[in-house]
Amino acid sequence: MSDLIRRTAAELADALAAGETTSVEVTQAHLDRIAAVDGDVHAFLVVDAEGALSQAAAADARRATGQAQSPLDGVPIAVKDVMATKGLPTTCGSRILEGWVPPYDATVVARLRAAGLPILGKTNMDEFAMGSSTEHSAYGPTRNPWDLSRIPGGSGGGSAAALAAYEAPLAIGTDTGGSIRQPGAVTGTVGVKPTYGGVSRYGLVSLANSLDQAGPVTRTVLDAALLHTVIGGHDPKDSTSIDAPLPDLVGAARRGAEGDLSGVRVGVVKELGGEGYQDGVLTRFQESVDLMVAAGAEVVEVSCPNFVHALATYYLILPAEASSNLARFDAMRYGLRVTPDGDPSAEDVMRATREAGFGDEVKRRIILGTYALSSGYYDAYYGQAQKVRTLITRDFEQAFQHADVLVSPTAPTTAFKLGEKVDDPLAMYLNDLATIPANLSGVPGISVPSGLADEDGLPAGVQILAPATADDRVYRVGAALEAALLQKWGGPLLDQARPLVGEVAQRPSRDQGASS
Ligand code: GLN
Repeated sequence: MSDLIRRTAAELADALAAGETTSVEVTQAHLDRIAAVDGDVHAFLVVDAEGALSQAAAADARRATGQAQSPLDGVPIAVKDVMATKGLPTTCGSRILEGWVPPYDATVVARLRAAGLPILGKTNMDEFAMGSSTEHSAYGPTRNPWDLSRIPGGSGGGSAAALAAYEAPLAIGTDTGGSIRQPGAVTGTVGVKPTYGGVSRYGLVSLANSLDQAGPVTRTVLDAALLHTVIGGHDPKDSTSIDAPLPDLVGAARRGAEGDLSGVRVGVVKELGGEGYQDGVLTRFQESVDLMVAAGAEVVEVSCPNFVHALATYYLILPAEASSNLARFDAMRYGLRVTPDGDPSAEDVMRATREAGFGDEVKRRIILGTYALSSGYYDAYYGQAQKVRTLITRDFEQAFQHADVLVSPTAPTTAFKLGEKVDDPLAMYLNDLATIPANLSGVPGISVPSGLADEDGLPAGVQILAPATADDRVYRVGAALEAALLQKWGGPLLDQARPLVGEVAQRPSRDQGASS
């Protein structure tokens, strides 16, 4: 396999700037890789080879005249299928949107295009981003490149798997309850959920508007900072977009990589650990905390007592918002239309279309949401959940008085087997135990690989959270931890993955990985 696919986005950007390679070469190498392994991994729902190569050629023409539009000009990217892409199908992993080709670009996508990143294709996801395993996709599951019998996390399993399988150097995900961070943890990749309002939601098909946030899916912390800088910042088309400049994320990542955390107070959240978390996940987490201390950080334990209610709160607020959002799929406006025999009324067509077009998990949440919002139950469920949401935000405010960042394991377990939890919604929901509080309060978070955490040699992640708008802190601390771990492992964790398919067996050994 081409060495180009093993490089980080930052390395590719440098090579492009130095004229050592071209965007067409880099893009073709990733398309070849997709052709070789995606039959097994199924990270992509659509691959746009022609479009990506013509965008790559345009990037090369700009580079040749010294007119690169951004540091990442010419570095290809994969986009989660929840983002509207002009001229490219957008399904959200659902039958109900089959065949829909958006007439416009989401702001995130428009910014990728303006910055010159060729779009390789759209990645698989749980239907309407509901799930933690990508098994709820109507188009079949994505498999974890570390072990094809296991899940890649969800809902953004396609984006994370594309990174772990070297099918793309960068990807876009969305995180409503953990869908960027949890797939990152179980695939040994990096994922960032930015501050709510820090990246535009315009053109992102809404799951739950007050929780959804798009962000970077990468293999390194620096790559995430570079991508976040491209997609982030104010957008007048999104009324919840923050009207203030982004902090210097790339500077924070570079500074963090120098490895000095002196003066940084790291808060270990008492409620995010212990029971329900796999032993190996906790061991790797503790090691990460020790490495932060060795880098000069001060560690304190903080308590966020209301976090124990986060999951219940989320599973009232999310279905409520989702049931309202999904009402737009009415057989009239987008995608699928099923017309029953006879002389059906508009309502008959809607019913038949929604029956055929939505999967079980989506229907389950529509029912939950409409119930929670119905008169007589509104105060008891939805209203109560909003109050607890406020208490969770207060817990964060308290905790951030004692700590600059908060840390926990990202996901309670390593990747489970396909089929293991798909029929057990509650077991599936528990995967987001540690990630959901950040969505409820809008604070930013990163997941960084923490090491191999079980006897099968599967990876886990550590989560670092910061106060709203202080996204630079997650990059600084994340990069410092990453640097310490890379030293400990002698190279990227992904180099220790078992071979995925023929070509991956050619991955350099751990020692070679360290020197490259
Ligand atoms: N797994 C969570 C859910 O099913 C989170 C989904 C997400 O972040 N999009 O709702």
